[in-house]
Amino acid sequence: MNQALSPSAPEAVARPLTFLSPKATSARPTQRWSVAGVQALLDLPFLDLLWQAQAVHRQHWPAGDIELATLLSVKTGGCPENCGYCPQSAQFDTGVAAQKLLPLDEVLAAARAAREAGATRFCMGAAWRAPKERDIEKMAERIAAVKALGLETCATLGMLTPAQAQALKASGLDYYNHNLDTAPEYYQDVVSTRQYQDRLDTLQAVRGAGVKVCCGGIIGMGEAPVHRAGLLAQLANLDPYPESVPINSLVPVPGTPLAGSAPVDPLDFVRVIAVARITMPRARVRLSAGRQQLGDAVQALCFLAGANSIFHGDQLLVTGNPEAEADERLLQRLGLRPAARVEGA
Ligand code: SF4
Repeated sequence: MNQALSPSAPEAVARPLTFLSPKATSARPTQRWSVAGVQALLDLPFLDLLWQAQAVHRQHWPAGDIELATLLSVKTGGCPENCGYCPQSAQFDTGVAAQKLLPLDEVLAAARAAREAGATRFCMGAAWRAPKERDIEKMAERIAAVKALGLETCATLGMLTPAQAQALKASGLDYYNHNLDTAPEYYQDVVSTRQYQDRLDTLQAVRGAGVKVCCGGIIGMGEAPVHRAGLLAQLANLDPYPESVPINSLVPVPGTPLAGSAPVDPLDFVRVIAVARITMPRARVRLSAGRQQLGDAVQALCFLAGANSIFHGDQLLVTGNPEAEADERLLQRLGLRPAARVEGA
């Protein structure tokens, strides 16, 4: 690489810092991001933005590996919420049948298969508005069993109380996924059965229980550019920001209110990845739903922009995901290697 273009050059990261206004806390210094500051990053010339994102990425992730996470829907469909993008809502006619919670042995078989395929994290998703106490007991059993396989555990089960978050933590839960989806100002255009504050409350309960946070959003739901900036600012200003940040590109599903959404410009998607990397340098930024539509070249740009985690496997809840073998081929072609399993996870 031409040394003059080396992204490790310190001046390469100088510019984004001008958008920061540091906020001191007693625990550790954090940086607050204004929506305007995030927007300014999103609006940078594309190559400047990628340069800066890659510089931040190399500084914080010198190993440059890619985390492989596998997601299993343990309880599909029949959800009372009305998230406009979701085929699992009982309010939309999408052909997704409601199912009961998968038995423990089926969850374990899927977790073993994921481990064999190289996954280091196993995420279990259930289409609940909020789990009942008996659901928490059953999920605690599944989490403990998956954890015993040596996998990192993650769950996404809807809204949690602090006591429920603590019960999941006690069972061995490492991460809890709860997405903010979009900016607060656009949230009610996407879902009306809950408030943005409900999401923040659950995130607080999860943090309070000592569980790591997986939280991201969806691009392509008809949001304005300022809403993308607003989402990223919300995520980056969580204190601390999430350890995992899944960025989804909407997969429009027939029967959902967002079925007719215009496709996202792939370069705009790359921009969002880059700004997520710059504003949340230590987070695993994950390419999630919609990766199949991006194609190999855009995924490569996303990795350059700082994505370092993918959902791995054939199915992502109820939408398709690139086959595991295709992922392995792509990583090989790019000279990227999967992250090693975390010992003692
Ligand atoms: S995204 Fe989750 S909460 Fe919303 S409808 Fe789908 S399963 Fe329910």
